[in-house]
Amino acid sequence: MNYDLIIVGCGLTGSTIAYLAANRKNLHVLLIEKRSHVGGNLYDETDPDTKIVVQKYGPHSFHTDKKAVYRLMCEVGGWEPYTLRARVRIKGRLTPSPFNFKTIDTYYSADRAKQIKKHLVDEFDYAPKVTILQMLNSTDPVIKEYAQFLFENDYKPYTAKQWGISPEGLDPIVLKRVPVRLSYTDAYFDDRYQMMPEGGFTSFFRKMLKNRLITVQTGEDALDHIRPGAGGTLLFDGEPLQIPVVYTGALDEFFGCCFGQLPYRSLRFKYQTLNMASFQETSGVAYPMADGFTRITEFTKLPYQDGHGNTIVAYEYPEPYGTEQGRIPYYPVLTENSEKAFECYRRKASEYSYLFPCGRLADFRYYNMDDAVERAMEMFDMLLKSKVM
Ligand SMILES: Cc1cc2nc3c(=O)[nH]c(=O)nc-3n(C[C@H](O)[C@H](O)[C@H](O)COP(=O)(O)OP(=O)(O)OC[C@H]3O[C@@H](n4cnc5c(N)ncnc54)[C@H](O)[C@@H]3O)c2cc1C
Repeated sequence: MNYDLIIVGCGLTGSTIAYLAANRKNLHVLLIEKRSHVGGNLYDETDPDTKIVVQKYGPHSFHTDKKAVYRLMCEVGGWEPYTLRARVRIKGRLTPSPFNFKTIDTYYSADRAKQIKKHLVDEFDYAPKVTILQMLNSTDPVIKEYAQFLFENDYKPYTAKQWGISPEGLDPIVLKRVPVRLSYTDAYFDDRYQMMPEGGFTSFFRKMLKNRLITVQTGEDALDHIRPGAGGTLLFDGEPLQIPVVYTGALDEFFGCCFGQLPYRSLRFKYQTLNMASFQETSGVAYPMADGFTRITEFTKLPYQDGHGNTIVAYEYPEPYGTEQGRIPYYPVLTENSEKAFECYRRKASEYSYLFPCGRLADFRYYNMDDAVERAMEMFDMLLKSKVM
């Protein structure tokens, strides 16, 4: 085999490692991707009728505080500054997401709102943001009442729909992901660098993979070729492999789910093309109380778009993984039991010296894009230091 490295999965993790290997070290890379396209969950395509770029696996915008990640992303392609703003629909009214002081003004009288804000800043000592768990655990009855309002009308129904389980059964990390702001700041993310790739993510991936040393094979399930063999060897079409394999797919699948299937949550998207310039206030609006769907994304609100009087929206429905509607593992469901099961797979993987699991599926972690890129950069350094490269 005339390659120095095989990478399974052409998402952000696999593509970053391929880019680094080819451009920094002149290594020959074979990238195998089972979908018909590159980009993993960041893939987008242009709707032929409206020319609107539509993200096929859910809305994504890039944000990071990690300088090295930001530099690498800028080295690859052009970006446009973009500050994501989102809204939540509760009791027939829109309020910023994450919740902020405007939320309090929207749902309470002026006097009560003033009181809640004062209690919050005093209790949390002017912290810019807190978690809903901190608010629920407060002994201040004013804060507790407001926390309960948010919990009952947003976190609880949203979590139940998104994860298909009650909030108590979830890793608290999930409930900590969306903070409550103690100010009027209404940007969705706090990060220093927030941007979208010029022309969309697929265009960015094309730039990333444009190197004669990188061979991309799409529409190919790597597990039809690569298998764990006896004694810690990896087999490619039955022959022992002597080059490293970075695997960015689900680790349980790699080992034939021998310790049981890891739990994931899937999503389904229902698209609608509308003959109107604008459908909603921001690109993302969450609907905690709606029947079945959690949010609506309007792609025309992203910076590189021009709908020429049309717009496209996507309704997002969480689905159980492994069903007809939920074939893609989007989010790992992190519970005590799933972490234990994953640890069995991680230990098994470490017995294979040519196998390097990496990425949101193989690490069974929720990674934002910048986490995925950072992890890929670390993995590339680790590969260079390893004895197998
Ligand atoms: C709905 C949603 C919205 C998100 N929004 C944001 C956001 O706004 N900002 C942000 O920073 N992050 C966001 N994220 C996170 C972001 O999607 C991930 O950080 C990123 O996609 C991780 O890239 P990856 O390469 O690790 O995984 P993936 O994109 O899943 O890539 C893995 C690839 O491996 C392929 N593969 C798997 N098994 C095999 C096999 N056997 N053979 C061949 N190929 C295989 C898969 O087909 C896939 O293409 C979001 C995630 C979701 C689910």
